[in-house]
Amino acid sequence: MSERNPPIEFAFPDLRKWEKGAAPYIHVFESGMAGPTVMVAALTHGNEVSGAVVVDALLERGLRPRRGTLILSFNNIEAYHSFDPRTPFKSRMIDEDFNRTWGRLDQPATTVETRRAQVVRPFVERADFLLDLHSMHDDGVPLMLAGPLDKGVALARKVGAPVDIIRDAGHAAGMRMRDYGAFGDPGSPKNALLIETGQHWRASSVTVAKDVTARFLLETGAVEPADLPGDWKQPSPAQQRVVEVTHAIATKRGNFASARRFEGQEIIAKAGTILGHDDDEPVTTPYDNCVLVMPSSNRPLRPGVTVVRLGRLV
Ligand SMILES: [Zn+2]
Repeated sequence: MSERNPPIEFAFPDLRKWEKGAAPYIHVFESGMAGPTVMVAALTHGNEVSGAVVVDALLERGLRPRRGTLILSFNNIEAYHSFDPRTPFKSRMIDEDFNRTWGRLDQPATTVETRRAQVVRPFVERADFLLDLHSMHDDGVPLMLAGPLDKGVALARKVGAPVDIIRDAGHAAGMRMRDYGAFGDPGSPKNALLIETGQHWRASSVTVAKDVTARFLLETGAVEPADLPGDWKQPSPAQQRVVEVTHAIATKRGNFASARRFEGQEIIAKAGTILGHDDDEPVTTPYDNCVLVMPSSNRPLRPGVTVVRLGRLV
């Protein structure tokens, strides 16, 4: 696979100073006042650095909750520390995807990521509200992954940014942290969101991560506006929209040829529009006004990798 690596537009923070916490690279701050436990997690994927910039900045600032408890975490810190600028996508993980392990944490931990997930798990279980900070391989438009339930969409609307709220069922390859336990229970008030801030190393991804984190911390009542840097929260979009994912298109043998270059969340008006060919088989839109969610069709992909998710505006 040949691919030119995108530029890295900001400095990666030195996180070793945050090793000592309630657990390694996990910090818990209690206000002593009644209120929810609110968790902000970075580096669930080790090379998604915009979130790490934000959590590092909150720790550096000495942010403390006004009520309830605040948990700040760097999840796959070992992958982050394995970063090599010559292979910048490799530090996403060490042995496996940390964010696909959450359905099998009752099994013996045999990988870096399952061992780390065991350490992170009690904090995730304690959290009433979780924000998981991610970014994208491709240079796409930011989106909030709200999960499959109404309550996720409702919280994403309260947060108020970004424009695109994606309602999706997660991955067949394994449960995500944002869907774990009570977060996946429609009867529980616990709630989680996953933000994709844009391309991993774009300066704009840091802007989105700061904006969404500020909004989340304010919405949950953990902090007051004056507690956060004045330039984090951005103007609200006029309107958000909700896209329900109906299909995930994967390339069978890694031979997907895109009909053209696709941006994030563009709408294809007509059913039957050819998006590209996989092993010479046409891939078409199944209905009118089909939204292309987080396309990765503009680059070579390994067999089995998702090319694009298809969704409807709801
Ligand atoms: Zn990610």
